Amino acid sequence: MSAVTTPTGLLIGGEWHQTADRLQVIDPATFTVLAEIGNASVADGLDAVRAAHDAFQTWSVTPPRQRAEVLRRAFEIMTAEIETCARIISLENGKAWRDAVGEATYAAEFFRWFSEEACRIAGDFRTAPGGDKTIVVDHRPMGVAYMITPWNFPAAMATRKLAPALAAGCTAVLKPAGETPLTALWIGDVLQRAGAPAGVVNIITTKQTGPVSEAILADERVATLSFTGSTYVGKMLLKQTAERVLPSSMELGGNAPFVVFEGTDVDAAIAGAMVAKMRNGGAACTAANRFYVHASLAEEFTTKLENAFANLKVGPGIEQDNDLGAMVSEKERDKIVELLQQAMGEGVVAKPASTVPSLGAFIAPTVVRDVQHGTTLTKNEIFGPVAPIITFEDEEDGIRMANDTEYGLISYVYTADPGTGIRMARRMESGMVAVNRGLASDPAAPFGGMKESGLGREGGFAGIHEFLETQYYAVDL
Ligand code: NAD
Repeated sequence: MSAVTTPTGLLIGGEWHQTADRLQVIDPATFTVLAEIGNASVADGLDAVRAAHDAFQTWSVTPPRQRAEVLRRAFEIMTAEIETCARIISLENGKAWRDAVGEATYAAEFFRWFSEEACRIAGDFRTAPGGDKTIVVDHRPMGVAYMITPWNFPAAMATRKLAPALAAGCTAVLKPAGETPLTALWIGDVLQRAGAPAGVVNIITTKQTGPVSEAILADERVATLSFTGSTYVGKMLLKQTAERVLPSSMELGGNAPFVVFEGTDVDAAIAGAMVAKMRNGGAACTAANRFYVHASLAEEFTTKLENAFANLKVGPGIEQDNDLGAMVSEKERDKIVELLQQAMGEGVVAKPASTVPSLGAFIAPTVVRDVQHGTTLTKNEIFGPVAPIITFEDEEDGIRMANDTEYGLISYVYTADPGTGIRMARRMESGMVAVNRGLASDPAAPFGGMKESGLGREGGFAGIHEFLETQYYAVDL
């Protein structure tokens, strides 16, 4: 497999800086080295903050239309080079080609959506109810935004933050995940080519994630943190941001229920389940993690899901006819294997659906029948192609089990009619509910979770407000 061509240095102040120390990026499908990239020190991290802070002085007062045009050009470049982007994603993350193209397209859309939003930051001007003053409400860019992204959507998680931040007039320091830095570096290059002025976007890659991030968050030039990743790391970062009462947006873990109510068209539910479970090989915060199926449909649903899993072709994502690629690393694959072993200790029968290549971080798609609610597979974010099925008889019981988790990112509801679907959606304790669909994400819709799945929303009309400070002027006209 040939290596990928992306910048490999740190992007600071519009220039690519090489570091003496290099980090290797590994293709999880072959365990070969794809590239060697920079390893930022604490000083490099603070240098990126300085560059972003300097650039903010001009970018924050650049006309919205000009900011919008940079984002629009970034959308156009990404769209024209969608296959290059997909190739980098697939090689470093392992995901199947179709998923990589889907992600690259979704990622580019954030540039388009927020190029449109940049010119629509509305304020407010009205007479106070008492008539004693005029209330004027304005929104202004917060300043330097520090962004940390995970490995599972290396393009979309970066653009979902960069696009609204730049639209709002903020500047950015982005730290991508160590497993998948190349996509973020490529996006940095796209933004440079789109005309983002030097220092507006800075990207650092590092092995010293903890110390570098701690120093950045402690720096008073940094105005906000936007994090996507696990709830565990999110909580740790919230403790650090509490020191400076730093605004923080958190897109964290999930444990999505997929509930199939009595009377549902099983074939439609299977089609949705394959998307909700298998997109990205199950490594999505939105992945359906637990399937609650009404007893009247359980056998049919389980058999059909087993058959659909058995039809999946597993192999290197970059080979376009494979349906399921590698997990991002051996470590991530082993975590899933361990969860399955624990579950088998609890008496479940896990039958892998197909064989997998012997080299690479692959795992066979697996349906697990007759799982009890409250056991290992229902309590943990599996993050892989494993589908535990739990049956229920009573609708109330199904809803109770679906909500019985500390997470609340997304729920999937399948019913015979949309009216019942909306009624069920209202009872789900999650920031998003997909009704008779296996996919909810849309750049134009607010993405985010309740409970321990996060704080704030990305995308939609809300996303830009994560990077804006509201200011109220009380005026005697
Ligand atoms: P992770 O929390 O291990 O890592 C996420 C990022 O945090 C990486 O860039 C990592 O380098 C960084 N990080 C790790 N330790 C840190 C520290 N001490 N200080 C600062 N940064 C640190 O998560 P992951 O394994 O990369 O991603 C999987 C998780 O992300 C899953 O839980 C998934 O549900 C979640 N996720 C959530 C969303 C969402 O929108 N809610 C989207 C994608 C992924």
